[in-house]
Amino acid sequence: MKIAVFSSQPYDKRFLEGTNQAKFSERKYEFVHFVFPLSQKTAPLAQGCEAVCAFVNDQLDAPVLETLHKSGTRAILLRCAGFNNVDIETAKKLGLFVARVPAYSPEAVAEFTIALIQTLNRKTHRSFNRVREGNFNLDGLLGFTMHGKTVGVVGTGKIGLAAAKILHGFGCRLLAYDPFKIPEFEKYGEYVELDALLEQSDIVTLHCPLMDATRHMINETTLNRMKTGAMLVNSSRGGLIDTGAVIAALKARKLGGLAIDVYEQESSLFYQDRSSEILDDEVFLRLMTFPNVLVSGHQAFFTEEALTEIAEVTLRNAECYVTKESCPNVVAGTQ
Ligand code: NAD
Repeated sequence: MKIAVFSSQPYDKRFLEGTNQAKFSERKYEFVHFVFPLSQKTAPLAQGCEAVCAFVNDQLDAPVLETLHKSGTRAILLRCAGFNNVDIETAKKLGLFVARVPAYSPEAVAEFTIALIQTLNRKTHRSFNRVREGNFNLDGLLGFTMHGKTVGVVGTGKIGLAAAKILHGFGCRLLAYDPFKIPEFEKYGEYVELDALLEQSDIVTLHCPLMDATRHMINETTLNRMKTGAMLVNSSRGGLIDTGAVIAALKARKLGGLAIDVYEQESSLFYQDRSSEILDDEVFLRLMTFPNVLVSGHQAFFTEEALTEIAEVTLRNAECYVTKESCPNVVAGTQ
């Protein structure tokens, strides 16, 4: 079976081909790698590929799915957990098999979230540059002690829970909001309503999926509920935050810091080297001007262990499609 891999980076190729050879050699999957994302313009390139393998910023809306279906694609293998970029209704209507990788080292994402918090808090990125230039002055590097701070975890699924466990180790007081409570979180902290979490937390960290109900959950109103000077952290999906409202809150000195691994308009920026380009995204450029903003390019998942898991589960999902066995990771389709 031919699999068209969109947004394919050298590491995707290495892990998919390596896993294929090591564990699925009998099946003889053949990969066609495209470095650019899947879109209406690039979808015809999947002609002759029964499966398409896509990532977080690939476009899988109704017109793209229809184009893929017309040219013979029958399976969509997402090498990520979130499927907010897939028009599930259309996929179902077309009878497409869509499967995802629901969990690939949630600890990897949680650990990176803590790295974001501590980098922004203790300003290690600034001291790295200063020391390289022979500047050992500490002025401007002042942080706060995590021990005793209140952290609000929005979403206590796999990643939120892993983050809560680490933060508990730091000695933080933990609050959480999730419409589906899990008893395990209550070993580390207390569930409260979202408003109470926003009002009491020194750090608010987002770990819920992007859906209609959660889009722009951080907006002018919810930002106003937050403690003045609190830090907002997002390693989940950019659309959870109204970036314009966050910029206004930073300018007003209401929000004390912003650490994000995801950005609402990231699909036209992330995963490519744009260092020689003139960037047009004025919102992103405004964010870059704040000394208390830290942005990384959707890399929280990026560990050896997570990429191994992603490649293995993606190919196991392909196996389910081929053999018509029931697939635990299906989000649309019959298996
Ligand atoms: P999960 O499904 O295990 O947990 C999500 C949790 O959010 C669930 O407990 C759910 O009940 C909760 N939730 C749903 N609606 C909510 C709401 N309105 N308010 C608060 N909580 C709500 O998912 P996960 O594996 O923990 O992943 C969380 C998110 O992290 C994913 O949706 C994905 O977007 C993102 N993610 C990012 C990266 C990265 O590299 N930055 C990697 C993997 C996942």
